[in-house]
Amino acid sequence: MSSQQPQQLKMYIDGKWVASESGAYFAAENPATLATIAYLAEGTREDARRAVAAAGKHATEIAGMSIWERSRLCRRIADVMEQRSAELAQVLSQDQGKPLYAEAEYEVKSAIEGFREASEQIKWLEGNTIPVENGNKRVFTFRQPRGVYAVITPWNFPLNIPVEYLAPGLAAGNAIVWVPAPTTSVIAIKLAECFEAAGVPPGVVNLVTGPGPVVGDEIVAHPGTHAVGFTGSPQTGEHIARRAAGKPLLLELGGNGPTVILEDADLELAAAATASGAFFNAGQVCSATERVLVHRRVHEPIADLLVAQAKKVQLGDPLARGTTMGPLNNRGVADKMDRHLEDGIKRGARVLFGGERARELGSELFYRPTVLDNVSAESFINYEESFGPLAPLMEFEDVDEALRIANSAGLGLVASLFTRDIRSAYRIGEKLRAGIVNVNDTSNYWELHIPFGGVSGTRSGIGRLGGKHTIMEMSDLRTITIDLR
Ligand code: NDP
Repeated sequence: MSSQQPQQLKMYIDGKWVASESGAYFAAENPATLATIAYLAEGTREDARRAVAAAGKHATEIAGMSIWERSRLCRRIADVMEQRSAELAQVLSQDQGKPLYAEAEYEVKSAIEGFREASEQIKWLEGNTIPVENGNKRVFTFRQPRGVYAVITPWNFPLNIPVEYLAPGLAAGNAIVWVPAPTTSVIAIKLAECFEAAGVPPGVVNLVTGPGPVVGDEIVAHPGTHAVGFTGSPQTGEHIARRAAGKPLLLELGGNGPTVILEDADLELAAAATASGAFFNAGQVCSATERVLVHRRVHEPIADLLVAQAKKVQLGDPLARGTTMGPLNNRGVADKMDRHLEDGIKRGARVLFGGERARELGSELFYRPTVLDNVSAESFINYEESFGPLAPLMEFEDVDEALRIANSAGLGLVASLFTRDIRSAYRIGEKLRAGIVNVNDTSNYWELHIPFGGVSGTRSGIGRLGGKHTIMEMSDLRTITIDLR
């Protein structure tokens, strides 16, 4: 990507690179320098409709490929991505802001693995033979593609999160219309180039760039899409659920990850894992450690250890070796950090480290890793995702109080718990309302095949991502009964 001459990047619809029917483009900005790195086609509702029509036209083609062919297709995509991995990591870092060596390279590896994983999982998609009362009947179930999938993905992991839907979605035989977040659409174009190079049939994956409330809304509500996958905020997810009423939904809507540190915890381990949970990807992770609940007796040492961890973070140029944290991706998320800090401090919180932007690094989007103490359970920090590099400490007296605070947020994606007592691990782990509870590790621990998603009764989403679980979500369970008389 040339920094002097930003290119105009087109959308990928029906196997062709096309401009928006309006002819409009919008600027893609590098969050670390605020320089324009490319111009992206600004899709309209009509462009989105064209993409849905293309997917509809080609849905039978991907559905008609044998599972072994689709598996090979996923492997070819992984191979192309691997050949282009250095370029993908560079673009990812410049588009999103994450450090190249500490994080972007790993995200590319993980995205490649996502296609390999789907290529394996799909081969084990077995059905059942169901015993029935009627002796003349034979009843069996099998899985079929849902048809045309609308997929909308955010900017925090702009390669990995799309792959979480696209790899299993393709392996399961769906045609896809994909709308990536506007602030990270350059890397989406690069991924679409890999699809083309790997021989994904035209029209099977269609990429529409542009504003979510326009092109995203069109593909969600359009009768030509048969199911929706979305990762993003609870507010937008709930809006999408209303617009998609009646369609199968796979929604991953974020969390407010409590990390509970009991008095018997290994404090060094707890502090290191908590810092990693709070600061990885500058805290822009749905499974980030968003609240640190610490027992009164270990509060002080944990606060000191967390500040020591925050001091180790190397904030700076994402392309430089040694950098461990880059800027936030966009102004909305940086402004939200400001609001959360202001509100938390107004309600009695104390800044132990950071607590402000680091504009001297060349962009207003750099935010210092921040440790806050005495955070009130009434603060926004307790109820909403802060989605920035923030470790907010909240003290508790006993386990009941810890559980009350941890479960008060209305979100329930991921939690973590530090204890040396196996009984506490089970007892408290079972009571923490979260899709995953990681004991003695960061809230961010996850592997591609582990079921990931929110618990019912919270705003964290619907369904499970991860390995075969996504394949099940992205396929229909069908039944055939045969009468032998
Ligand atoms: P949103 O959930 O609003 O946006 C996520 C994606 O959805 C973007 O691509 C967005 O496009 C698109 N979108 C927005 N409105 C619609 C719509 N009506 N129909 C279809 N698609 C739509 O999150 P934001 O980017 O505004 O971030 C706000 C907060 O959300 C963050 O601070 C964070 O707390 C949370 N978030 C959580 C994520 C997670 O992984 N759990 C990921 C991203 C955000 P556009 O940008 O054009 O609006």
